[in-house]
Amino acid sequence: MRYAILLTVIAFLVFATGKGRAQEMSNKQADKPTHKVFKTDAEWESCLSPEAFAVTRKKATERPFSGKYYDFWEQGVYVCVACGNKLFSSGTKYDSGSGWPSFWDVVDKEAVILQKNYSLGMVRTEILCRNCGAHLGHVFNDGPPPTGLRYCINSAALKFIPEK
Ligand code: FE
Repeated sequence: MRYAILLTVIAFLVFATGKGRAQEMSNKQADKPTHKVFKTDAEWESCLSPEAFAVTRKKATERPFSGKYYDFWEQGVYVCVACGNKLFSSGTKYDSGSGWPSFWDVVDKEAVILQKNYSLGMVRTEILCRNCGAHLGHVFNDGPPPTGLRYCINSAALKFIPEK
């Protein structure tokens, strides 16, 4: 009888420890960045301009009407300044009057991550590059048709590649 109790206790301990480990593993997985390109802040700082670093890694917002692309209308694509991921096309760029480059769609939904953000006492949807986690800007529901969306992006987070 004593042995039976002892075995039950041992079995329970083995089960509980295993469960603990499984939980630890899934926590570790959750902590892992989902993006493919991962660099430390120091590494990003050494390969980005101060403006691009502040925006993409520290979520700064450039002053409106100050960036190089808010009033820029050449044909081509806009890639992530940090990793080169294709994000927006000049075909969906429009003048929102906001002073930031604005697009009504992304090139590919899989290119970005949309994340609710509660900073500055506002609820906004932040746009991140799925490839490297760079902060790009925010998306709002006051855009033009066909999507009704306004992807409001910092020029400093983008690099323009002209159409050949
Ligand atoms: Fe990126």
